[in-house]
Parts: sequence; C-alpha cells; structure tokens
Amino acid sequence: MTTHELRRVAIPALDPGLLYDVDVEDGVFTRIEPVGERTGASGEAVELWPGYVEAHAHLALPANFDDSLDDPRISALSYLYHGVTHVADLFGYPLLKSRWEAGQAESAVPYPELVHCGYAATATRDAMGLTGHGVEFPSPVFQLGMEEDLADVLHANRRRGGTFLKVMFTDGTEQPEMAARFSRLSPKVLEHTEQVTREQGVPAVLDCNTREEVLEAYRIGFRLFAHPVRDFELTDEDWQQLDGARFVSTLSGLRPMVMEREEFRAEYGRPGFLDTQDPANLDFVAGVEEPYGIQYKCQDTRTAALHAMRLNNLAALRRGRLLVGTDCGNTGAFHGYSLLGELDLLAGDEADDPELRDGLRHAATVDNLRFFRELAGQDSVTHPLSIGAPATYNLFTAGTGSPLSTLPDTTVVHGVAIDRTAIAREIRTIRESASEGKVVL
Ligand SMILES: [Zn+2]
Repeated sequence: MTTHELRRVAIPALDPGLLYDVDVEDGVFTRIEPVGERTGASGEAVELWPGYVEAHAHLALPANFDDSLDDPRISALSYLYHGVTHVADLFGYPLLKSRWEAGQAESAVPYPELVHCGYAATATRDAMGLTGHGVEFPSPVFQLGMEEDLADVLHANRRRGGTFLKVMFTDGTEQPEMAARFSRLSPKVLEHTEQVTREQGVPAVLDCNTREEVLEAYRIGFRLFAHPVRDFELTDEDWQQLDGARFVSTLSGLRPMVMEREEFRAEYGRPGFLDTQDPANLDFVAGVEEPYGIQYKCQDTRTAALHAMRLNNLAALRRGRLLVGTDCGNTGAFHGYSLLGELDLLAGDEADDPELRDGLRHAATVDNLRFFRELAGQDSVTHPLSIGAPATYNLFTAGTGSPLSTLPDTTVVHGVAIDRTAIAREIRTIRESASEGKVVL
C-alpha cells in the first residue's frame, strides 16, 4: 500500500478560504479534510488542483512548422510533463491509435486518459464549388450528403472507439465582411444529426465560427461548441439566448497565423519547450520576417477574430461555460505545452486578478473534466477532488507573482508522482532514435 500525506494545502476548487489535509492510499483520495482558514500570508500554502484537461486536441495533426508529426509517445509524455492528465481529441486519433496504445503498453508512467470522436463529419461540395470544412486537413472526414448518411458515420466512429461526434458546421467566415470559404450542412441534415445523436446519447460538438452559426446550431438543439464566436462580441441578450451552451477557448491554435517573430520567441521561450518539443521549431520561427497573416491576407481579420474570441471566452468563464482547449496539432500549437500558454492568453494583462486565476484553473480542470467525462459517455458527476476519486492532481506554489502557465511543482497521476526529469530524458531518447521522434501516417 502506498500512502501520501499532504498537510495544510489550499484547494481553491473546493473552497478558496480553507486549508486542507489530504491523504492518498492506493491511488485514490482517502481524506480531504478542512483544517483551518487560509489567511493569505506569503509562503503559507501550496495549492492543489485536479490534473489539467486539454479540451480540444488533434493528436494526428502536425503541430510542427515543418509539417512533421511527432511520435504519439512524445505527445503523451509532453502532456504529463505539463501536468495535463486528460486529453479530448476532436478528430484524427484513429490514424495513430495503434502507436499510442503500443506506447502506453510499454510506458513506465501512466499515459493521459484519452477520449476521441474518430473522424469528423462535414458537408459535401456545394453548388458554388466549396467543400466542407475539414477536407483540407491531413485526416479523413466523413461527408453527410443526406440524412441517411449519419447512421453509417456514427457506426464507423463507434467501431473505432469514438464516443462523440464532431460536426463541422462553419462556412469559414471570421469577420462580418468575409466571403464563405466552406460549404455548410443543410438545416435538414443538421436537425437530423441533433435528433439522432440526442436519442442515442452521443454528445455532439459543433465547429462554428460566427454568432449566426452558433445561434442556428443552438436553436436546433446543440450545446457544445468547439470554438468561441469570433465575429462579434456576444451581448447579454445573446448569452440569454444561449443558455447552457459551452465553448472551448482555442486561442493557441488560431494565434500563430498572426504572430511576429518576437511573439513566437516569447511564446516558445517558457520553461518546458526544449524538454518536450522539437527544437527545429525555434529555428523556424527565428526566420519569420512577417506574420503569415500578412502573406495570406488575413492579418487584420484574424487579429480581430482573436480579440472577439478572448472577450467571448471571458464572458463564458463568468457564466461557468468556458472550456479550456488549444486546438493543438494545428501549426504552432503544441501538445501539453500550449495548454499552459492558453491560460496566459486568456488571462491577458489581468493575470494578477486572483479571482480570474482561480476561475481559469477551475475551468481547465474541474469544468474540463466534466466535459471530458460527458464526451466519454461516463455519467459520473463526482467532483474530481472527493473521497474515492483517483488521486490525480497538480501542486503549485500559491501566489499571483508567477504566470498562470507556470509548470506545476508536482504532478501526481493515480497516486503516482511524475518525474519530469525522467520524462524529458525519455523524450530525448525517442528524438535521438532512428525515427527522430517522427511518424509518417
Ligand atoms: Zn480543432
């Protein structure tokens, strides 16, 4: 029997005003007991939070600037290194499922828990010649031409272990004046999809960009959105119309398009990058003369979109409807590393507001885990920090002086402490092997 004891730790996710004693036996919490008031004295307390959950990842998309795909063993270890213990893959995972599982079987450390949707569903080519969003990615997508197609898509994804459905609904518009880039599912097919997934208890996550798309999908009955609205700052009236809807933040995946060289240097200069990511990315961004957005003529629209997204994310947070995810696997958004950066992007220049800090960490842990369990089809609603729950947590030095992206002091998964130095060594070994840590699908 292994036992850990933590004395007088703060657990803001339970009560920000109290200190607790915590015991762990055989990988689960056996005692979480308030033992005093938290006075806020400096150096008083260590903070305990549940493990971070990545709410929007793509393990099979190439995050690296040279379009190379990291070995999933490296991605898994990168998550653990950064204290991320659960990952929701929003399409593509079946492409490397066997490699992930082989790595997991021989891993000395427990892999992050994973939930995935198989492949996404999108629209067919339309009369204008536009294709559905998703066909441009190096991962298959299913096309829903008519209502009857849905049954086959759900069956195929289920057979591959998918437990939810990702539906691409956006036409790619980022700002009001822009022309559509993608075809869209017809309202009839979308209504059928909502009805069938609801009846079968399959959670459906919608990929929408605009206010109008989100309002239409909501009216049909969808409540889970892979991104925030990016063309308008939602009004209070909008939020009243969107009661119960939740949104994944995804600033990290969108931002590399508009970043300057110095912003890249700052973003990838945090501790952990060189231990977990391909250093070739640093050489690559060092050569960036101007943001990609200028070359692709979307610098202004994307910058405005990111601004609206952040405001809508913070509004969602105030209403308890924010999920924290990065869209990692898109270029420049890295597994594990970018989830910590996402917290900084969300906090912006308000990072010394204790309420905001706690709110963001709560969203990235407790709220995200609830989302993860829903996607996995688990109906457990127990708080992640309760007696009998897996002892999976991060410890941080309390205080607002450090960025939210600060690495946890300690990460524990099912009662097992993760040795970050050993993980970095393991990643280095894989990168120095014949494959150089890359896979070709
Ligand atoms: Zn995505």
